[in-house]
Amino acid sequence: MGSAELLVVLVDSRLVVQNASTSDGSLWPRTWESLAVFFAAYGGLATDQRIALIATNSERAALIGADVCAAMDWQGLRQETTKFLLSDSGSSADPPHLASGLSRALCYANYMRKAERKIPARVLIMECSNIEADLSTQGPGLLSCAFAAQAENVTVDCLSLGDQASTLLRQVVNIAGGKHHAMSPLGASAEQPFGSLLLQTLLFHFLASAVTRKDLNMVPDNQNMAAVCVCHGKMCDIAYICSSCLSVYCTDNIAICPGCRTRFRPERAGINRRLSDLGSLELSAF
Ligand SMILES: [Zn+2]
Ligand SMILES: [Zn+2]
Repeated sequence: MGSAELLVVLVDSRLVVQNASTSDGSLWPRTWESLAVFFAAYGGLATDQRIALIATNSERAALIGADVCAAMDWQGLRQETTKFLLSDSGSSADPPHLASGLSRALCYANYMRKAERKIPARVLIMECSNIEADLSTQGPGLLSCAFAAQAENVTVDCLSLGDQASTLLRQVVNIAGGKHHAMSPLGASAEQPFGSLLLQTLLFHFLASAVTRKDLNMVPDNQNMAAVCVCHGKMCDIAYICSSCLSVYCTDNIAICPGCRTRFRPERAGINRRLSDLGSLELSAF
């Protein structure tokens, strides 16, 4: 038996709401069945393995349950999670508050490390993005969490179950030293149903602890560090960054940062000219 670890799983409400059709039924029931087997396998790695589950919708993030694996009521946890994810009264176009959820996950890991002992902790984000520029409005929050996780030595992993993986979450995982894997439910087939594919992916990529992974020679992730602007949510080759809150903009025409209200003072050619720069001809006119 190895030493115990804390795993905080962060669930995106779109896994329930989008209800994508897979070869073996709707997305959420298959996802939970695979998660239940994954949790059981995770609980078998050490005697005091801990699990915490945080759910996020477009309004807020909530800690649904947390305990030692052996004492967890899995059926109750499933009902509470589904109830919370379906209670979203916000617009279906709004992305879930994954930045708040990640922040909450890191706070919980920090609390557990102080309350118990220096227990290793990692976070697994299960998200359902449909475009690469998804979550662009949460960019500063997500990246701040990534640097906080890096400073506290908390690994952040991500399993993307949407059509296209969010570039920002790839960057978060890259900064926090975790593993990113994208798996669209549409890739499942009759021979390889979604539930079976998801379970094998979870066990293969996300069961091993961060320490063990160093001995497993895991394949490095795709690096995509393209900037995504907070103003339009588009990918930019050249971007402008607020030096106060690290928000990324695609233009330098903004006078005040909408995120932190910092006033930008761009260098404009000719603004600081002295009167003598006008020359003798112009001066004689006064
Ligand atoms: Zn923009
Ligand atoms: Zn700012």
